[in-house]
Amino acid sequence: MAPTQESTATMLVPPPPPHFVIVPLVAQGHTIPMVDFARLLAERGACVSLITTPVNGARLRGVAEQAARAKLSLEFVELPFPTDFDGLPPGIENVDQVTDNNHFVPLFEALRKLAGPLEAYLRAQAPRQSCIISDWCNPWTAVVARRLGIPRLFFHGPSCFYSLCDLNAVDHGLHQQTAAADDHEKFVVPGMPVHVEVTKATAPGFLNSPGWEALWAEADEAMRTADGAVVNTFLDLEDQFVACYEAALGKPVWTLGPFCLSNRDADAMASRGNKLDIQQSAVTVWLDTMDTDSVVYVSFGSLARKLPKLLFEVGHGLEDSGKPFIWVVKETEADAPEVQEWLEALEVRTAGRGLVVRGWAPQLAILSHRAVGGFVTHCGWNSLLESIAHGVPLVTWPHFADQFLNERLVVGVLGVGVAVGVTAPVMIFDDEAVQVARGDIVRAVSALMGVEEEADERRRKAKKYGEKAHRAMEKGGSSYENLTQLIESFRQSGGKEG
Ligand code: UDP
Repeated sequence: MAPTQESTATMLVPPPPPHFVIVPLVAQGHTIPMVDFARLLAERGACVSLITTPVNGARLRGVAEQAARAKLSLEFVELPFPTDFDGLPPGIENVDQVTDNNHFVPLFEALRKLAGPLEAYLRAQAPRQSCIISDWCNPWTAVVARRLGIPRLFFHGPSCFYSLCDLNAVDHGLHQQTAAADDHEKFVVPGMPVHVEVTKATAPGFLNSPGWEALWAEADEAMRTADGAVVNTFLDLEDQFVACYEAALGKPVWTLGPFCLSNRDADAMASRGNKLDIQQSAVTVWLDTMDTDSVVYVSFGSLARKLPKLLFEVGHGLEDSGKPFIWVVKETEADAPEVQEWLEALEVRTAGRGLVVRGWAPQLAILSHRAVGGFVTHCGWNSLLESIAHGVPLVTWPHFADQFLNERLVVGVLGVGVAVGVTAPVMIFDDEAVQVARGDIVRAVSALMGVEEEADERRRKAKKYGEKAHRAMEKGGSSYENLTQLIESFRQSGGKEG
């Protein structure tokens, strides 16, 4: 039968772009990559709604304005944050605002209360959204997706190497074995394609401190009932771990990064995360005066905070290393008058080769500058990937959560890092027991920035991974093509009827 005019028209009209709902955890290390991802999806033609709260939404104004100027279909939806929540001081809506360890659980409990407003918001929109992509630490979204009949993927912040260790540790009962062990006893993580040893303190796990049992169980359940996983990594970096993770999880793992490479201009780099506490141009102008690969960048992410004693060891270590450096000191660390005075004196002593940034720094602009040749990092996955994506080798100083295993990947497997030598984690606000001294920093920085063959080899490998990272994100690259497939699979399937 010949097609009618109407049916021909139907055949020619492509299905509408899929609509993704992105729900990041309210912590910089989780929100930043998901915002990059949301923008990337929108740039590739999808409709995107990113769910946030008023305090966090205010921090995202720069990206929102930029997306609007670029006419992207990316909206930032601010759900009201629960007020008068038991045990949580008013105004705290982000993990980096917490100054008391007792406020973490109430913050996560308050976040669960966003399930109702999210469901109401999504129900009020038409047509039905295609897919919810929510952070592993936001398991409350599982019930929303189920009630609305919308497919759900989880986004987990770290590498596939880490997530595979974590999954295997749970599935093979590693935590039951380590529970009775002393602090130094070593255990092999089962089911890994390479040999990975951990102690009780460095065994994998998120949300698994005492008091978090219910939240952890909910997150584990949400992971196992999701339709797949999105990971900020790329195949050429860890293909064997991606394959094993996908097999162990039993569902698709979409490797779509490094997301940071989607920030292609100075404006995009400057509007990531927080409002900058220093002009991006001030840093770039300073870096422009330095030799290629000569500067060490030092930053410990958005959460880890150092007490003055340890802060001074870091400063002395950088001074004694004799290398040019940019060191990011958080506002909360630099607050005390004794610290301010000490930092000013350090700046005088290292004038011309040392720059101390107080507050939030333009990390991507720094790591992508040709003058930066090394990064002293706490091993947050974003920091590691941002460094690798720009071909910069690392000194690794893990603090907590996934960071010890991230260190294992970059030092032991990829061969692009020098360990500073810590073996036990610290709490966010308590580094009294940390044994790192200025001499350790001098040793590690000298090894990283040196002219020895090993240092050259690390630089060479880092540059190679940097090139591969860029290729992964270009048309024809693994992450680019995976993103095409992800978008197309939801364009065709659309949402289920709720
Ligand atoms: N970051 C930044 N400026 C800063 C500190 C951090 O832009 O002064 C960004 C950094 O580029 C990364 C994120 O904050 O994207 C930190 O994430 P990561 O996973 O490295 O560590 P976390 O903060 O979660 O411990």
